Amino acid sequence: MANRSAGLPVVAFVGRPNVGKSTLFNRVVGDDRAAIVEDRARTTRDRLYGDAEWNGRRFIVVDTGGLEVAPGDPIEEAVQVQARLAISEADVIVFLVDAETGPTPADLDAAQLLRRTTKPVLVAANKADNQRREQDATEFYSFGWEDTFAISANHGRGVGDLLDAVVWALPPESVREVARKAREVQADAWADEVAAGRLDPFVIGVDDADDPEGDDDLEAETPEAEAARWDALMAAEDNDPPAIAFVGRPNVGKSSLLNSLLGENRTIVSDIPGTTRDAIDTTIPWGRSEIVLIDTAGIKRRGKVANGPAADRYSTLRALKAIARADVAVLVLDAADGLTAQDAHVAGYVIEEGRGLVLAVNKWDIVEGKTHKSFDEFVTQLRRDLPFIDYAPIVSISAKTGQRVQRVLELAVEVWGERRKRINTGELNRLIREVVERTPPAMVHGRRSKIRYATQAGVAPPTFVFFATDPASIHFSYRRFLENRLREAYGFDGTPIKLVFREQAREKRVYKGKPGKSKR
Ligand code: GDP
Ligand code: GDP
Repeated sequence: MANRSAGLPVVAFVGRPNVGKSTLFNRVVGDDRAAIVEDRARTTRDRLYGDAEWNGRRFIVVDTGGLEVAPGDPIEEAVQVQARLAISEADVIVFLVDAETGPTPADLDAAQLLRRTTKPVLVAANKADNQRREQDATEFYSFGWEDTFAISANHGRGVGDLLDAVVWALPPESVREVARKAREVQADAWADEVAAGRLDPFVIGVDDADDPEGDDDLEAETPEAEAARWDALMAAEDNDPPAIAFVGRPNVGKSSLLNSLLGENRTIVSDIPGTTRDAIDTTIPWGRSEIVLIDTAGIKRRGKVANGPAADRYSTLRALKAIARADVAVLVLDAADGLTAQDAHVAGYVIEEGRGLVLAVNKWDIVEGKTHKSFDEFVTQLRRDLPFIDYAPIVSISAKTGQRVQRVLELAVEVWGERRKRINTGELNRLIREVVERTPPAMVHGRRSKIRYATQAGVAPPTFVFFATDPASIHFSYRRFLENRLREAYGFDGTPIKLVFREQAREKRVYKGKPGKSKR
């Protein structure tokens, strides 16, 4: 346990306004994952961070620009402030400059600051849309960094080379990431096998009865083989105790909550140095086991950064790194402020990362004019603001008085369990068959996709593969409908679940029935 590995590495785009940071960000950050939920659009519109993948490596990209600069606040206006914050959390820094304008005094200031970091810095001279500008870009070699690239974020020119260098400069892949990839590859390979008809998930469970004579030309996976496959898939994570991250904007009461929790757990086991330079994880006993609280140093840190957008961005970045290492994130909100855009960002990110989520509404003690309805009203508002995470448990607490603080951990551990829940294939298909028979997918262009069967291909988060005749035509709303039915039947409180739709390569005899035999 002592060396819990890091989550995804962070790449920060730093540079003065207008050099093209957000243009590059949009080019580099894939949008496929953002499309999981339609409501997400609201929270991702002005994203500050996103997921990128290049040459098989995933990383978080942080756009340090795009902030509304608080007018009249000279500190906020200085690009160095943002740069400094980003530098402190990033693994690799991409320093963007403008080949059209050439070096400016603001660039020189930023360069001076960046020279002090030991982290890899890559210079990207943007707007090098043509060869002449590419020539101009060489001016920036004078800043002293060997890795200087001429790029055009608009046209994509040179961006591949830049990303090659970024990936090259990333820290080695974490154990967790390697394990995650291995699981993904195995789950994929298995799903392909099933789709190709070489494996038949239907032989598991009661559905055998559908085809008592067996499907003679299909090689069935034995329950032993299935169990072994699961063991292999799960081995990487199985022994880890629940890892919980507390995230939220500055001043919502994260460190107060932490102190309250640690106060009640006097027998703290240990502090474990995390992987970020100054991250510290804390284990506390929990029943016969223990819980790991992720990056408690980040929670305790106080007064080092001012309030305001820059501080928000900094804390968000720190939170992202913590989330990537956690099983469950507790998003702490301030009852007085309700939900802010920044909170919604973080909540969206937790879900995109496939982590569990608990919402803790803190400072409940100072809510004025509380009645027995206040909490319900607060919950209704939150559900309205965050419809895509209506499955996350919400608890009102007071870190100050200690009210319900233990409940936060209880909920987080419950969510941790939900996130690892596994549904037996036979049981799952009974449900899906019933649901699909009653409410089939809508017709698209005169055709109706048939959902043949489903199987749970993974846990943490629970991942279901649906095999269908025309998966592309299954509308988002129907996918959401299926998700809701799964949640109704099996809970999965607080955890995102993934639904994957695959083409079924050939008709399965199990369903067609054999001549002279009835289907069921
Ligand atoms: P940011 O403030 O650093 O995030 O910069 P933006 O991404 O908002 O870009 C500032 C301006 O530069 C916009 O008008 C972009 O269209 C433009 N821009 C960005 N990349 C390029 C590029 O590769 N070539 C040219 N010619 N313009 C670009
Ligand atoms: P953090 O920045 O999220 O770690 O927030 P802190 O734990 O430093 O708390 C910020 C401020 O809110 C401090 O002044 C705390 O005393 C106060 N605070 C934290 N939790 C509560 C609470 O439950 N009730 C009240 N009334 N104040 C709180």
